[in-house]
Amino acid sequence: MCSAVLTVQSARKVVLGNCEKIPQALLPIDRVPIFDSYCRVLAESVVLDRDQPPFARAMRDGFALQAGSVEEVPATLQCIGEVKAGEVSKLTVQPGQVVQIMTGAAVPAGADAVVMVEHTSRLTEAAVSVLRAVRTGENVAPCGSERKAGEMVLTPGRRIAAFDMAVLATVGKVEIAVYRRPVVSILATGDELVRVEEVPGPAQIRNSNSFSLYAQARGCGAVPRVLETAGDNLSELKRQIQVGLESEVLLVSGGVSMGKYDLVEQAFQEAGVEIHFDAVSMRPGKPTVFASRGPHWVFGLPGNPLSTFVAFELFVKPVLQALQGMPAETMPLIEATLHADVAEKSGRSAFLPARVISRPGGLEITPVRWKGSADIFGSAEANALLVVPQEVARVSRGERVQALLVGCIEYDSEPRF
Ligand code: AMP
Ligand code: MG
Repeated sequence: MCSAVLTVQSARKVVLGNCEKIPQALLPIDRVPIFDSYCRVLAESVVLDRDQPPFARAMRDGFALQAGSVEEVPATLQCIGEVKAGEVSKLTVQPGQVVQIMTGAAVPAGADAVVMVEHTSRLTEAAVSVLRAVRTGENVAPCGSERKAGEMVLTPGRRIAAFDMAVLATVGKVEIAVYRRPVVSILATGDELVRVEEVPGPAQIRNSNSFSLYAQARGCGAVPRVLETAGDNLSELKRQIQVGLESEVLLVSGGVSMGKYDLVEQAFQEAGVEIHFDAVSMRPGKPTVFASRGPHWVFGLPGNPLSTFVAFELFVKPVLQALQGMPAETMPLIEATLHADVAEKSGRSAFLPARVISRPGGLEITPVRWKGSADIFGSAEANALLVVPQEVARVSRGERVQALLVGCIEYDSEPRF
């Protein structure tokens, strides 16, 4: 057992320091079809195979022409044909001429602008009247004006989002190299726990931590694997810890406090797991254990549901990100205006369940009604964890505070469009 109680900042430093030691080049990679790459973490650089746009592109339906052909309006010009999207026109536009053109088509030789169809009037099959002056380059995206061939457009370590899919498709990526999703074993411990499908006895409860941890692990892109619960005895704990150590990451919940039957740390040690720290000056979640055995990452998370949840957000998440080649230090911290007075006497850094709402004046945060770290129902109301730093005992309504986002922001704004 370790004796030191670390501040949250130094505990995170220990975790992040270990993350930095992960040899990036050795992270396992999967090659997946483009559709399967959505939400995975990119493991290759994506470079443009050609200029974008790859040809001078008409941005509107209208007529391609030389801007100089319209000296005064209306100007009557000769229409010599049309060009559709996807077609390479053989026509060359001379002064005084137009070619009818569709959005997305390649502007024919000779033309330097496209006048929108709305600004013209068709006189005959061969004659068009242009009703407004035309600027050179109007409604034309020149070849290479967005990006040049050879430019890097997506860098490794980025979680592939919806528009990244469009980039991958544009570049012609059929298969994408993405970092493998780490497998996370989840082990709940406690003699009082029964399975979700069981009817609990009078002093029993259903295991819920395995489910919140499952969701959190999946939310980070990992593959959760929920193990059979272990009772509060060394032999069961050690057996299940061995099973969990088959995966890259093992999360054990419960059994890390000061109780007579909190045997997880002892079981870790007997299983050859090295403990890096086992106490953090935070509320909830003080008895958080960070450990490892060889390349396997091991966490002992305090059993109370919100404690487990908070410890995951602060310490497990960066590891799962790093194991997928992402920068580990990114934290969804937001700044908001506090909407209530908060007293925090623990002398530890507090992470209190709270609700963030986006209002016309900015983000506003209010702690949820909550009966402590065992209160699942209050915690479920939260979309953020209000941060009260260790040295702060009270924060007043109207003050600016930090919060860790753990859900979707609630919105309370009338559209102004
Ligand atoms: P422990 O850390 O084992 O002392 O547990 C602290 C509290 O969290 C106790 O009230 C436990 O019953 C509760 N707890 C522990 N594990 C779980 C779990 N998997 N699901 C729900 N509650 C749990
Ligand atoms: Mg327990």
